[in-house]
Amino acid sequence: MATATDSFPQLPLFDLHLQPQDLQAVAETLRSGWLTLGPRTAEFEEAFAAHLGARHAVAVSSCTAALHLAYLAAGAGPGDEVIVPSFTFAATAAAALYCGATPVFAEIVSRKRPSLDPDDVERLITPRTKAVCVVHYAGYAAAADRLKELCDARGIALIEDVAHAPSASLDGRKLGTWGLAGAFSFFSNKVLSVGEGGLLCTDDDDVAAFVRSRRSHAMTSGTWDRHTGRTDTYDVTGLGFNYRLDEPRAALLLSRLQRLESEITRRRELTVRYRELLAQVQGIIVPFDDDEVPTSSCYVIPIMLEEDGRQAEVSERLRERGIQTSIFYPAIHRFTAYQSRFPGLSLPITELASRTELTLPFYPHMTHDDQDRVAAALAEAVAR
Ligand SMILES: *Cc1c(COP(=O)(O)O)cnc(C)c1O
Repeated sequence: MATATDSFPQLPLFDLHLQPQDLQAVAETLRSGWLTLGPRTAEFEEAFAAHLGARHAVAVSSCTAALHLAYLAAGAGPGDEVIVPSFTFAATAAAALYCGATPVFAEIVSRKRPSLDPDDVERLITPRTKAVCVVHYAGYAAAADRLKELCDARGIALIEDVAHAPSASLDGRKLGTWGLAGAFSFFSNKVLSVGEGGLLCTDDDDVAAFVRSRRSHAMTSGTWDRHTGRTDTYDVTGLGFNYRLDEPRAALLLSRLQRLESEITRRRELTVRYRELLAQVQGIIVPFDDDEVPTSSCYVIPIMLEEDGRQAEVSERLRERGIQTSIFYPAIHRFTAYQSRFPGLSLPITELASRTELTLPFYPHMTHDDQDRVAAALAEAVAR
């Protein structure tokens, strides 16, 4: 029996096309026989640091690992507080809990600007605040400039969760380079994706040395050093982790990094066109302004339904038309594990955004026809 979706090719939220040279780079690495923390990782770190204009880039196993090490580097421990948005992926807050610190959830500005609100951050700062983590939601710059001033004036570390925002900038300065450290993600559906992977960038020599050490058990020498005959023993100088990146993924990152700018350029062109189409759809809010697109990484296309209480229904109508959507993000403080830790916490703007947001299909090889189909289906779904 034919179903409604049979007549529509499925449009996924995200899709990835690797190129033959990407596969070649991975195959060569596998043939080399050296599979973790070696020359490709070092080469990728150098290339990414140059791309960012940062002094140091340290590859790690995930953005979550980078956030954990960044908060530790900021000195966060038991009894300390790390201010984070609740309108983000759970890892931004969980990494504070890994340190034994308490995440303190701050509001976003509005549904039009779903980024950390510096005024709310200022209200939440206490003598126990060790760090503020700003998320550049969807790839658009949050108020890193104001937050930097706020933090600098009080000796608090600013950390940037740049999982969405490689190569995005604010006032000509790359996101991730505004504070003490920036944490990037190379997870499967991110802008620069290789499956699993992350990176911490910093201009601070001590932070870089700390993160290099802690990502591999705080050992004074790695297997590469021993392999290349530099040393045959090691000491362990602190509590470290296995947060290493492996060589095949470093090779894939190096290969994909060469196309990052051109892919983001394509993302921006498609985002401009999406925004023109979405501006015609009644009953939705399209976050951010058109003039922010040229400096954004254009990671995803979020929209907010003006009317509360229709998220499930509209996403179901889109699914019936073969269009996959997602919610970026359910508020962290409303998750079971967090509600019990933070009972009664209320963040009305974040909660409304979470109840009304839908993320639409988007990837660099999306066609104009695909975009037209999404916009038309959304207009119908919202109009009932
Ligand atoms: C994906 C994501 C993370 C976690 O990244 P991993 O590399 O999967 O650990 C953290 N923060 C935000 C905002 C993300 O989108």
